[in-house]
Amino acid sequence: MIELFKNVLDTSKYVFDRNLVSGKAGNISARFKDPQGDVVAITPTGVSLSQVNNKNIAMVNMKGESLNNCKPSSELFLHLKIYEARPDIQGIVHTHSPYATGFSFSEKKIKRMEGFGPVIKPYLAEIPYYTPGSKKLAENVSKIIKNEDVIILKNHGVVAVGKDTQEAGALAEFVEEIAKTQFICHQLGGKI
Ligand SMILES: [Zn+2]
Repeated sequence: MIELFKNVLDTSKYVFDRNLVSGKAGNISARFKDPQGDVVAITPTGVSLSQVNNKNIAMVNMKGESLNNCKPSSELFLHLKIYEARPDIQGIVHTHSPYATGFSFSEKKIKRMEGFGPVIKPYLAEIPYYTPGSKKLAENVSKIIKNEDVIILKNHGVVAVGKDTQEAGALAEFVEEIAKTQFICHQLGGKI
C-alpha cells in the first residue's frame, strides 16, 4: 500500500513538473489488486498535483467508498470505470496538457506515431465532449479504453493508462510531445 501512495505521489510531481497540468487540474490514480476487493489511491479534489502528499491522497474501494476520509478527485468515477474495463492496467493519468488539449478543441486530430506500438489506425481515439466528472464521460471513456491506452477527450484533455502510474504518465507526456511536434508541422505548412 505504501508503494501505491508512492507511485501516485511520484507521478503527480512528474506530470506537474513537465507542465502536463497546471493549477488544480488533472488527476492520477493507482490500483492495488486484492482478491478481497481492489483498492484505488487517487489524487484529492481541489489540490494541485504539486501539493499532493501522503496525507491527502484518497483511498477508495471499487464502489468509490472512502477508506481514509480524504476527498477523491471529481473524476473518481472515470478512474473506477476504466479499472473495471481494463483488469490489465493499474495506473491512470488524466491531464489537460496544452498541445494535446489544443488539438481537442480544433478539428485536427493527433496522428499516431511509433511509440504506441504498431500504427494500425491513423489517429488517436477521441470521444465527444461530456461534462467533466459526469457518469456519461466515464461510461463513454470506459467503452473505448478497452482497445486503446490513450483517449483524447473533446474540448477537455487526455486520458492515458498503463501497467502503473509511471507508464501512464510517460504515455501522457509522449502524447503531448507528438501533439507539439504536429502543431509545429502544421504551423510550418506541413501536412500530416
Ligand atoms: Zn479534466
